[in-house]
Amino acid sequence: MNILVINCGSSSLKFQLINSENEETIAKGICERIGITGSQLIYAAAGKDKIITEKPMDDHLIATKMVLSALTDPVNGVLKSLNEIGAVGHRLVHGGEKFNKSALITEDVIRATEECNELAPLHNPANLTGVLACRELMPETPMVGVFDTAFHQSMPEKAYLYGIPYEYYEMYKVRRYGFHGTSHAYVSRHSAEYYQAKVDNSRPFEDLKIIVCHLGNGASVTAVKNGRSIDTSMGLTPLEGLIMGTRSGDIDPAIIEFLSHKENKTIEEITAVLNKKSGVVGLQGGGSSDFRDITSDYLAGKPEAARAMKAYVYRIAKYIGAYTAAMNGVDIICFTAGIGENNSIVRGEVCEYLGYLGITIDNAANDIKGEDIIISTADSKVTVMSVPTDEELMIARDTRALVM
Ligand code: ADP
Repeated sequence: MNILVINCGSSSLKFQLINSENEETIAKGICERIGITGSQLIYAAAGKDKIITEKPMDDHLIATKMVLSALTDPVNGVLKSLNEIGAVGHRLVHGGEKFNKSALITEDVIRATEECNELAPLHNPANLTGVLACRELMPETPMVGVFDTAFHQSMPEKAYLYGIPYEYYEMYKVRRYGFHGTSHAYVSRHSAEYYQAKVDNSRPFEDLKIIVCHLGNGASVTAVKNGRSIDTSMGLTPLEGLIMGTRSGDIDPAIIEFLSHKENKTIEEITAVLNKKSGVVGLQGGGSSDFRDITSDYLAGKPEAARAMKAYVYRIAKYIGAYTAAMNGVDIICFTAGIGENNSIVRGEVCEYLGYLGITIDNAANDIKGEDIIISTADSKVTVMSVPTDEELMIARDTRALVM
């Protein structure tokens, strides 16, 4: 069965058509910079060259239509018709406590996911636009939702509760949920396998302490101990934790009231600022959220880019310290997602903080991008690596399991 996996991020739509029998990718690609200037579709059928189509994409609906047209294109496509897609697996960000595992998409599941929209305002609506677009174009094809929150359901109470009146948890389920769970699940297991192959084959996944830094437009750090997520930096919503592309991450909660008085704005307006105009964009005083732009400005000596880069890296280093303490040690630190896989400046600067763990970095290895690579030296006390995430493969496996 061919499974189309759709992964709508805040500014991107990644897709893969996967043969679920042999888990080979038939075609894949990405719509980048959705909603910002320079949007493009990069499409590649297996074994063929990439085709880049530059076209404005105002939203995820337009992006989804472009992907389906590319897959069925008479010249460069891989399908005669959309009927050759047996199922669609969608990444869905927030399932609250309603979903602790993946679900076959029905009207009820769409409604229940919509009820979580306020908890993930940048993501759930984008995810659901992908669901609705596929349903419009392929009404008979079964679809599965794979939730980012599911992997973190193993967190203990002490990690998921906030220090606020307990009744808010009881009444409204205000707690830490965590996100990027599909990526953290895949990458933690894969990094353990890579560690076994290259460093020490006597340590099973269930015996390792792993810190996964998922650094994309959204970014989170997870502590994985004995194969389970025990803490993660995102919270009730994907706003908490690291400084991100446009999101603030951790702030003093009193800032919201303070700014709402100073700026004469509602709480909703301030929250929108924290989601959409903060992070490295806010720290630079505007400009690009893309780390390729920020890194080249940083290397060119622009002070606003340096300010953003330094704060971004420092926050990651602080979380690594916190999770090392939470697990009473760490065996593997693993970078993943767009920035974690490709940005050697970010990885290198984070690791400059980690000398106290006995970590030393191999600079030549750290220059390698986009593949499994150990970037620490052989005598480093902790193994630091970069591993490409594969949320799509995880989603295809769950989709197959639910529709077969
Ligand atoms: P999301 O899925 O959250 O939208 P990604 O994981 O695609 O985001 O990460 C986006 C970030 O990754 C951008 O800041 C971009 O600069 C960086 N990135 C992605 N691909 C590359 C690459 N090939 N080289 C350098 N940076 C990259």
